[in-house]
Amino acid sequence: MKVLVAVKRVVDYNVKIRVKADKTGVETANVKMSMNPFDEIGVEEAVRLKEAGVATEIVAVSLGVTQCQETIRTALAMGADRGILVETDAALEPLAVAKLLKAVCEQEQPGLVILGKQAIDDDANQTGQMLAALLGWPQATFASRIKVDGDKAEVTREVDGGLETIRVALPAIVTTDLRLNEPRYASLPNIMKAKKKPIAVTKPADLGVDPAPRLATLKVEEPAKRQAGIKVKSVAELVEKLKTEARVI
Ligand code: AMP
Repeated sequence: MKVLVAVKRVVDYNVKIRVKADKTGVETANVKMSMNPFDEIGVEEAVRLKEAGVATEIVAVSLGVTQCQETIRTALAMGADRGILVETDAALEPLAVAKLLKAVCEQEQPGLVILGKQAIDDDANQTGQMLAALLGWPQATFASRIKVDGDKAEVTREVDGGLETIRVALPAIVTTDLRLNEPRYASLPNIMKAKKKPIAVTKPADLGVDPAPRLATLKVEEPAKRQAGIKVKSVAELVEKLKTEARVI
């Protein structure tokens, strides 16, 4: 079974985000970029499925600027077999990504597609769901366990009230949650090997998709600064301050 994994290049989760002075977005120039953490979990799961003899080939797909090749290389170093870059300078929204991934799925015919539950830059949590709808394939979102059994997959989902286990027919779309696994670090030999693995480059026009944005960002602002806290000496003083200063009791 071929597994396709979507890997997005995002601002590294350790970077303190800075909003651009003109409030049009977030500063990405000279900022460390990495694979979206939920997509690392996706790659890890695909590699584990291959190690278990369930997956036969892992294809890592990224959409965006040329530098997304680095994100694909990371996936290849973790164990993916080949990559596909859908290259564009357009600002991609989830619907455009879903349409492009649909076209890639039609070409590649994977048995399973793994995406992150959300990208930590836009926090949209939409692409997997949209892709499933466009393809007409089943979806299992927020997965914390995936068990493939023939032409079906049993997926445990992290839902508000606890865990829900569902069975979906393959091909299906699965989105990863945090507890699915702990991604491995790529070893140096595997990083070297990854340099030789192929990455095919295609453009949205080749896939018949117009990726033009449909939303306009009005403004992006920093969250309001939190005021510093104070220490109180006694419960009585705390109650007094809550009454007279904070006026919450
Ligand atoms: P979102 O719906 O934007 O929160 O993203 C959910 C998931 O869709 C991500 O974790 C990725 O697996 C996938 N995805 C979104 N945008 C891209 C992209 N430009 N390239 C590759 N994968 C993407």
